[in-house]
Amino acid sequence: MSSSSHNDFVLAVHGGAGTILRNKMTPEREAAYHRGLRAALEAGRSVLADGGTALDAVTAAVMALENEPLFNAGRGAVYTSAGKQEMDAAVMDGRDRAAGAVAGLCGPRNPILAARAVMEKSDHVFLIGESALEFCRAQGLAFEDPSYFFTEQRWNALQETLAMRKAGADDQDESRKHGTVGAVARDRHGSLAAATSTGGMTAKSPGRVGDSPVIGAGTWADNETCAVSGTGHGEIFIRYAAGHEIASLMRYAGRSLDEAARAVVMDMLAPAGGSGGVIAVGHDGSVALPFNCSGMYRGVVRGDGVLRTAIYDEPLIEYRAKAQSA
Ligand code: ASP
Repeated sequence: MSSSSHNDFVLAVHGGAGTILRNKMTPEREAAYHRGLRAALEAGRSVLADGGTALDAVTAAVMALENEPLFNAGRGAVYTSAGKQEMDAAVMDGRDRAAGAVAGLCGPRNPILAARAVMEKSDHVFLIGESALEFCRAQGLAFEDPSYFFTEQRWNALQETLAMRKAGADDQDESRKHGTVGAVARDRHGSLAAATSTGGMTAKSPGRVGDSPVIGAGTWADNETCAVSGTGHGEIFIRYAAGHEIASLMRYAGRSLDEAARAVVMDMLAPAGGSGGVIAVGHDGSVALPFNCSGMYRGVVRGDGVLRTAIYDEPLIEYRAKAQSA
């Protein structure tokens, strides 16, 4: 995808990747996903259009996706095999590689704000479990009861996955298995940021942490190369240091953002069994959205304000055009 003019901004978001099949989707559900992505794009766009930072834009976009129960993050997160929700999130500022991450939390309404508080209000990068919750309380973050995060769909998905496991079958339905939300942006000052938030994978072991909060795996940003947010089989993304690998291919091998992102998603993650994709924004405002499975909920907005979203292996759909033809 082409890069933007020097002082233009760009924001990309994702709502997870996997086996997303048209024949399993109703038109209403499909429209709801597009709406959810557009709401996130709009939340980040308004920050960037006002001259705000990429960091604030990705935070706002991810909060919108966490608040939308359709996506596996915050409200609507998936369940562990023990029937609990354990959420992971991370944020990274490309200006100075400041980063914050949390893992295994259920409580803060917006896990991405917990990650951001770790980045800005602690001496650390990564906090987990009970102590992370205490830290969030001390920071005055909004908390919710488990009932706020509950959705029947995720609960039923857990029961189905557990029943399959009991019968000795592997759950092949990746859309039921995982999901994640993320945002990457370049602001008008040329700075980059990335944010990722997830409930992880359905029926994961209690205590399991995926790639999303691991800096360099599911989340990465530095102004000299790119900002990346991943979604997919987290264990493989961690082992291949997916986000950092994309940045390294740009930095040391002189690859373009598109070449680097495709090389990692198609030639490294896919052969290793790492189904999924990434959204990435380059220092020059270029955007890459590669995925190696049938779909990825994704969207892009630039300074022209046109919201473009897609789900399957298809070109991005302009919201204006869609509204006119409806
Ligand atoms: N990457 C996430 C994890 O492994 C799940 C996903 O993106 O689907 O926790």
